[in-house]
Amino acid sequence: MVKSSYQIAQIRGIPIRVHFTLLLLLPLYALSFSNRLGFFSLFWSLLTTAALFASVALHELGHSMVALSQGCGVREILLLPIGGIAQLERIPTRPLDEFFMAAAGPAVSFLLSAVFFLAGLGTAALRWIAPTEAFLALSGINLMLALFNLLPSFPMDGGRIFRAWLTPYVGRLKATRIAARTGRFMAVLFGIWAVWPPFNPFLLVIAFFIYQAAGAEYRMVMIQEARKNQWGSPWPGGRWTYDDASVHVSPPPYQRGGRFSSFFARPLRQQHDLFNELFEKWR
Ligand code: ZN
Repeated sequence: MVKSSYQIAQIRGIPIRVHFTLLLLLPLYALSFSNRLGFFSLFWSLLTTAALFASVALHELGHSMVALSQGCGVREILLLPIGGIAQLERIPTRPLDEFFMAAAGPAVSFLLSAVFFLAGLGTAALRWIAPTEAFLALSGINLMLALFNLLPSFPMDGGRIFRAWLTPYVGRLKATRIAARTGRFMAVLFGIWAVWPPFNPFLLVIAFFIYQAAGAEYRMVMIQEARKNQWGSPWPGGRWTYDDASVHVSPPPYQRGGRFSSFFARPLRQQHDLFNELFEKWR
C-alpha cells in the first residue's frame, strides 16, 4: 500500500501528518506567493509557506488541546493543500465545550497574527526587509485564517460556535439543522465565488467539502439523537465514538488568483504599505 501522508511530528501523542499532495504543491505555493506579493525571493517564499502550514498546524493543535482537556481523543492532525484537519474521536455535545473547542483554533490564529506582527515591527526597526515582509505576510494570513474560519460555515469553527449558541434555545438536533443549512448556503456562496472568473479550484474544493461535511454531520447528530431517545443518554453512561470521525478544517486563505486571494492579499498589501510609510519616517 502506498503511503498517502507522512508524519512530521508528534505533539502530546497527536501525530501531525503531511499529505503527499501538499508536499507536491508546496513549491508551487511558494512560487505563487512570490508572484502575487511581488516582494519575496524564492527562499523567503518557501520559508513563509512552511511557516504558514506550521501556523495551520498550530491552529489545529489549539482545537486539539481543548478537545483533549474535555476527554475527546484526537487521532491525528493532517495537513492538506486546502488546509488542516484535526480528526477528533468525537465532538463535545455540551454547547459550552463545543464553543471553547471551536474558538480555540481562531484564538491561536489571532495570537499568531499578533506575534508575527510584533516580530515584523522588530525586524522593521532593524531594517531587515525580507524577514519583515515575511512576518507581515504571516501576520496578515493568520488574521485572515482566523476570520475566514469564524464565518458561520458549519462545520467550520464559526458554524460550530453558531450551533453551540443555538443549542440551548432549540436543542442540539434543530441547532445542527439550522447550522448545517447555513453552512451549505455559505458553501454555495464559496462555490460561486470560486467559479466566478478567475477560477479558483482550491476554494471550489473547500466549498464541496463544507457542503458535504455539513450534511454528514447533521446525519450523525440525527443518529445520535435517535439512539439517545431509544436507549437513554449516552452521557455520562459510557464513552461513545463514531465510525465517521468528526473533522475540523481550517482552509488557509492564500490561494493564487481569484477574488478569494485578492480579497486576502489586500490586508497584506495594506500592512506592507503601512510599513513602507514607517520606513519613510525613519529615513
Ligand atoms: Zn479551526
